[in-house]
Amino acid sequence: MSPRNQIIGHLDADCFYASAERVRHTGLQHIPLGVLGNQGACVIAKSYEMKAYGVKTGVPIWDAVKLCPHGVYIKRDFHWYEVLSRMMLDYVRTISPKVEYYSIDEFFFDASYLTRQFSGSIYEVARIVQNDILKKTGVPISIGISRSRTLAKLASDYGKPFGCFALLDEDEIARFVEAIDIQEVTGVATRSAIKLSEHGIRTCGDFRRADAKLINKLLTKKGEALWWELHGDAVTPIATQRPMHKAIARGGSIGESTNDPDILQAWLVRNVERLVEAMYWHRYVTNRLSVSLAYKEGRHCSDRCKLPEASNASELILPVAKHLFERCWIRQMRISHMHIIADDLQYLGTHQRSLFVTQSPRLDTLKRLVNDKLGRFKLRSGETLPLVEIYDDDAHQYDICDVYGKSCF
Ligand SMILES: [Mg+2]
Repeated sequence: MSPRNQIIGHLDADCFYASAERVRHTGLQHIPLGVLGNQGACVIAKSYEMKAYGVKTGVPIWDAVKLCPHGVYIKRDFHWYEVLSRMMLDYVRTISPKVEYYSIDEFFFDASYLTRQFSGSIYEVARIVQNDILKKTGVPISIGISRSRTLAKLASDYGKPFGCFALLDEDEIARFVEAIDIQEVTGVATRSAIKLSEHGIRTCGDFRRADAKLINKLLTKKGEALWWELHGDAVTPIATQRPMHKAIARGGSIGESTNDPDILQAWLVRNVERLVEAMYWHRYVTNRLSVSLAYKEGRHCSDRCKLPEASNASELILPVAKHLFERCWIRQMRISHMHIIADDLQYLGTHQRSLFVTQSPRLDTLKRLVNDKLGRFKLRSGETLPLVEIYDDDAHQYDICDVYGKSCF
């Protein structure tokens, strides 16, 4: 099928984390609802009812409570969100052989199969899918259907909440995108928008009318791909295989900022254990490690180094992380955030083993065996003992991995 004849669907859950909480706490329907992350300090998702009070994603809880004092605030539970995400994904795979897991609540799929499976117009079929997912998972979603991923995503955004929007006719596409701000298009960041505006390009209509060569000059071939996509040519295929990560990072806020060496050491070890776990899950080894620290007083400090050999073993990674931490730690200042980042990744088994360095991941293997049986973190380093509250709180048990550079919480 030529790209011009493709029909691509984009499925996006409405206020996913808030909707997921409503699936299991049915009394929360129609109530302003905020989902908290970062040790309960920040609103990471909110319902439409809470949005109406001006609460934005990322605001601290104390500001959100001022704007919406009668709202209900719940701590996030990524494990539950993953359960629902997989249920949605399983369903979408039954209606299309080509599905891309774009993020925890967004999938692209080849929609040309839909009208073969169900009877009715593409719009009617999308409504069937939407209602099926609501029935099976309890999560309201929106669907956009068009000739390219970029257009399908704009269409699902337009349909929200609980909308379905099919955009297939050439003239209709032209009319629909004409006035949309170019920054609404995924992949056009502020810097790109500034470059475009210097050439009078502000809307999707301006973008479509511009010369493709000019767009390539300004935004490279990635920008030109968007130009074709906005014209209805599906040049970016549906990626059924997940691409390799550029980096895997674990960390974030450490709760109350501190310069207590025992607590900082505990966070460092916890983050390394999570990083090692994530690398094992994705079958990666890393060649380079970075530690990044943010201080309450506003300073940042980071350092990185190459590992003596590619590894995913904590026996090798932890001492390097400790060394890097020491190099960026300003003792008298309180740390608020810490990240451990592994990059220069390779798939396990494809890397060259060094003749001189041996790694024995026996401890990691033992931890995995025990934790697979008894539960995550049941066997962990004794150095994490100062973080009793973190390990006692089930909300900290799960992480969301990043997809296409979307960050981990
Ligand atoms: Mg969503």
